This record gives sequence, C-alpha cells and structure tokens, in this order.
Amino acid sequence: MKSYQQLYINGQWQSPVQGRLFETVDPSDESVIAQVAAATAEDVDVAVRAARHAFDQGPWPQLSGRERGAVLRRIADGIRERQQALAELEVRDNGKPLPEALWDIEDTAGCFDFYADLAERLDEQREQPVALADERFSSVARKEPVGVAGAIIPWNFPMLMASWKVAPALAAGCCMVLKPSEVTPLTALELADIAHQAGLPAGVLNVVTGLGPDAGAPLSEHPGIDKLAFTGSVPTGSRIMQAAARDIRNVSLELGGKSPFIVFDDADIEAAVEWIMFGIFWNKGEVCSATSRVLVQQGLYDTLMSRLLEETRKITIGNGMQDGVLMGPLVNQAQYQKVTAAIARGTEEGARLITGGRRPEHCDRGYYLEPTIFVDVPVESSVWQEEIFGPVVCIRTFGDEAEAVQLANASRFGLAGAVMSRDLERCDRVARQLRAGIVWINCSQPTFTEAPWGGYKQSGIGRELGEWGLNNYLETKQITRFDSAEPW
Ligand code: NAD
Repeated sequence: MKSYQQLYINGQWQSPVQGRLFETVDPSDESVIAQVAAATAEDVDVAVRAARHAFDQGPWPQLSGRERGAVLRRIADGIRERQQALAELEVRDNGKPLPEALWDIEDTAGCFDFYADLAERLDEQREQPVALADERFSSVARKEPVGVAGAIIPWNFPMLMASWKVAPALAAGCCMVLKPSEVTPLTALELADIAHQAGLPAGVLNVVTGLGPDAGAPLSEHPGIDKLAFTGSVPTGSRIMQAAARDIRNVSLELGGKSPFIVFDDADIEAAVEWIMFGIFWNKGEVCSATSRVLVQQGLYDTLMSRLLEETRKITIGNGMQDGVLMGPLVNQAQYQKVTAAIARGTEEGARLITGGRRPEHCDRGYYLEPTIFVDVPVESSVWQEEIFGPVVCIRTFGDEAEAVQLANASRFGLAGAVMSRDLERCDRVARQLRAGIVWINCSQPTFTEAPWGGYKQSGIGRELGEWGLNNYLETKQITRFDSAEPW
C-alpha cells in the first residue's frame, strides 16, 4: 500500500532507515499537505542496490521492447484513470491552476505511450549493419541499455518531469532510482504506485523522496549508478556533473534559461501579446524555457506595450482549484522570496517596473505575486541576465535584425528562443542564428513529446524527448566479425 511516509524500493513500500519525515506545503494557503519520507544515504544505497540487482539479474533488460512497451502502456492507462486526482494533487503541491495540471497529467500519460511505441520499434532497430571499407570484416552497431540510471528532478512540472526520464529509461531497458523535488514529492509516489499496479517488476523503478543534500547528493555519488539524468538549476547541475566526473559516468543535464522572444514590427500584435503572456505567465513563469527577455522592434513598441499592460492586468490570480484562475501562487516561500528579491534588485539596477512586483491585495495568505513587467532594462542588469523563475518579464527595444540576434544571444544560457514576424523567411533566418536548443516561430512554449528538448551553453548537456530521449538511456556497442578464410 502506498504511503507518503514510505519510500518505494524493490517493489515495496519501506520506511526510511532513519525514520525522518519532511513537510510538503500547499502554496495557496501555506498549510501542510503531508508528511513525507525523508530518505538519507542509507535508503539511497538500498534503492540503488535494488535497481542494480533488477538490472543485472532481473528480467527487465532482457525482455523484448514489445513486452516492456506493454507495461509502459499500462502505466499510461493508470495515469489516465487517476488523471483528476493526480492533477488536483499537483495543484495542491505546486500551486498551478487545475486546467494546466490536467494538461500536464495528460502529457505525462502521453509520454509513457510515446516511449512504449519506441520500445517496440527498438526490437526492429536494435542492430544496424555498419558498412566497413575492409570487406574481410562484418560489423553491426547494437543498442543496449546503459544500466542503472539515477534521476533527479525539479518541482515546476512534477509528474511530467518524472515521465521525461522514467518513460525513456524503462523503454530502453534501464532500471532507475528517481528522486523527486522535496518541494513537490507527491505525484512521484503516485507514479510508483501506478507502475506497481501496472506490473513493473520489483526494483526496476525505485522512488526515494528527500532533500537535495541528503538524498540527491548520495544518489549522484553512488558508484552503482551508470547514468545520471538531472533537471534543475545550474549550481546543482554543476555538482551533479562533478559527481559524475569523479567516476566517469554518463550524465545529461537540463538546466535553466533566460530565453529571448524577438517581436518584429510586422508581427500580429494580438498574437504577440498572447504569446508573450503565455511565454512568461504560464505556470507562474516557473518554466525553464520561459521567454523572460522580450525584444520588441522600436516601431511596434508603444502599441504593443499598451495592449500587453491592458491584458496583463486582467489576469485572474488565485487558488488553482478555482474556476477562471489563470495564475496560482509561486511554489513556496523560498521561491517567493527569491523572486521578490530579484524584482527589488532589478529596480535598484535601473530597470523600470511598469506593473506588478507585489502580492495582490486580495491575497492575504499564500505565495501570490502579481504578473510583473520591467521595461528599459539595462543589458548588464541581473534581471536581464539571470533566471528569475517567476512571472517577471523584462522588455527592451531593438532597431534591426542584427541587433535583435546579438541581444538575444548575449546570454550564458541557451535553452529556448522565439521569434514573431509575418515575414517567414526572416523568422527562419533568425531561428537559425539563435544559439539555443529550441526555437519557436510565431509562438512560444508549445512542447511536443516527439521533438528534441534541451539547451546550448549553460542550459545543459544532451537532449530529452523524442528518439533523442531514448538514446540518452542507450549505449551503442560495436560487434565486429572476421569473415575471411585468409589469414589476417
Ligand atoms: P534545484 O537545482 O534546486 O533542484 C533540483 C533537484 O536537485 C531537486 O530534486 C533537489 O532536491 C535536487 N538537489 C538539490 N541539491 C542537490 C545536491 N547537492 N545533489 C543532488 N541533488 C540535489 O532546482 P529547482 O529549484 O528544483 O528547479 C528549478 C530549476 O530547474 C530552474 O533553474 C529551471 O530552469 C530548471 N529546470 C530546467 C528544465 C529543463 O528542461 N531545462 C525543466 C524544468 C526546470
């Protein structure tokens, strides 16, 4: 039986060795939702050993892709059966509005179905002949699971971020230890329960809830892990990479961003307003790919800004369970303090705050913040350069295309970018010049399970989703045979 006070290890619910718990809080009213098991290094060790045993001795990596795909599809079905309950749990733990949470859960199920398809396809594509110049030899390249993966994820899309790692890892034949964020741990435990009900063999997926330094760090340092898959902030990503470097382990990182949105004079103003708002206020701006730097060509600036201000002030803020709410509270007190401190710094650095920056008057409890817009933002200021991870957009003007591209690329991040113009040739040209892993034309943020996701520069290493996500969990083996009767 699932309990939030237990860890899911080796197909069983187990209390943490030290018996410690931590609280997870509803950001809409600051109440405690649940006491959750706090894993420590001892629990992580047991979980990694279970995954190791399942990989080295168990049936999972030896099953055909079709057989593994069938389990993944049952997990997808289990998620859909509980969609409403899971979405409501996500609203309470994260604060996002219910329609967005329902959308996340549907995408989570879709991710499992997608990788079920790829698992099946792997049966036909596992081995590919390699043409060798020396015809005395024949060779194949064979894909094999990388082994035991350790996954560490953030709190902004709790269950969806879990699926981006769990689904491809299981499809590939890997076994996994997943550590969700301590800020939103509940749906990962539900996922463990769903996987269990779906008949996933013991040890293939283990879920350890706990704090970063107490549970995440030992997982990243454990010698039984073959691959580390991390999504989170740059400083933690750097620690994970250092841990991987010590024993030379495979690592993939999905980190932060400060993504630009370039709007040219000839863009459709209403569409631009809509996508700018979606690009930064969706999920309260707690989105790694949020288009938080908006570059508007001078000729469009005044008209665009007056429409943007008008629409921004109409956003309904409140508890994500209420009808019509477009923006919920920030995820927790620490994030609220971080975002409001960044806003204060922005004002000190000379950026002009034209709306927001405060707690809405009607909210006396909860970590609510008004959608915030800065203009005339100096390029060297921290609000222009650093990820805020909240509903705060910084806007500047530009003169010509070259200046827009230069400003857009002047960042240590390179996760995403967006460009809007009626001139599609210009959009294509600019898209190809942006130093970012994802570029949207005439939109911002739509994300597709089939397409590669990941960043350039300090936004990360490697790609998730699509076939690229599956390859994250596969090794490629060369098998070469000497075919000639002649001596070598
Ligand atoms: P975070 O780095 O604070 O935490 C992420 C995870 O790492 C959590 O599970 C945490 O417990 C764990 N952790 C913390 N310290 C650790 C340590 N020393 N060793 C091992 N694990 C540790 O990030 P966050 O605040 O949860 O998430 C926000 C960040 O995630 C933002 O920077 C955002 O851009 C990024 N993000 C990126 C993507 C992407 O796809 N690129 C997606 C979502 C979020």
